[in-house]
Amino acid sequence: MDIFFRGTSDAHGVPRLYCECKVCNEARTVERVNRRLRPSVQLYLNNHAPLWIDCGPDWYVQMEQANERFVQHMLITHAHFDHIGGLPQWYDQCRYVDLPAYLYAAAEVLDAIKERFPWIVSKVKFIALDDGYTFEEWHISIWRVNHGHNGYSYGFRFHHQQEGINWVYCPDSIDLTEEQQIPLFNLDLLIIGTSFYKEPFPMKTRSLYDVTEILDCISLWKPKQVRLTHLSHDIDTRDRYSLPEHVQYARLKEPIKLL
Ligand SMILES: [Zn+2]
Ligand SMILES: [Zn+2]
Repeated sequence: MDIFFRGTSDAHGVPRLYCECKVCNEARTVERVNRRLRPSVQLYLNNHAPLWIDCGPDWYVQMEQANERFVQHMLITHAHFDHIGGLPQWYDQCRYVDLPAYLYAAAEVLDAIKERFPWIVSKVKFIALDDGYTFEEWHISIWRVNHGHNGYSYGFRFHHQQEGINWVYCPDSIDLTEEQQIPLFNLDLLIIGTSFYKEPFPMKTRSLYDVTEILDCISLWKPKQVRLTHLSHDIDTRDRYSLPEHVQYARLKEPIKLL
C-alpha cells in the first residue's frame, strides 16, 4: 500500500484567513512550505481502486493537485466540516461520471452525513464499517475515540492479513481512555493528528492532543514510525522541535510505502 497525504492542516487550513503570524505569512510566499489544506489521505492498493479518507472543503483542489479524476471509495472518520465539507461536490462528480461510488464510515457517522446531505444516498452506496471491512488483503477495523470538547471521531486501523503489518489513521483525538488506546499499540505506522506544539489549556477544554502530549503517548505505544498531521498555524514544519528520528511531519510529496 502507498499512502499519500492530500492535506495536513487543522480545520482552518494554513494560512488562516484572518491571521498574519509568521507561519501564515510564510504560507503566502512563493515557497510556502507551510501551506496546508484540510486533512486527508489517499491509499493505493495493488489492484483495487484507491481509497480516499476524509473529504474536507479542499477536496476539489486536492484532486487537481494530485492529478486524480475520480474517487470511487470514500472513507470518513467523523462528520465535522473539515472532514466532510467536500462531500456535496464529490456527490456531484459521482452523478456526472456515473460510476458506482461507495461511502464508508461508522453507522452513526453515516447517519450524521445523511442528515446533513440527504441527497447523497441517491447515487452513493453507504457501507457501515462498525464490524470491519476488507479491501484486498487489508482488513480495516474502526473504533470510537474521544475528540474532547468536539465530541467524538473514529480511528481506522489497517491490518495486512498475510504480512501482519498494522497501521492507524487517527486525525482527531485527545484524552483517550485505556480501552481506546488498545488499537494504538504494536503499530508499524501511526498517523495521528495534533494542532499545536504546546497548549496552555486543560485537556477537557480542547479537541486534539498537542505535540508534547503525543510524544508522551508515543513513548507508551511505541509505534515504529509516526507521521503528525492536522497541523495548525502554530507548527512551522521547517523546525524539527527536537522530535525523535522516527517522528515526522506529514509531507505531501513523498508517499509512505507499506509492502
Ligand atoms: Zn479535524
Ligand atoms: Zn497564523
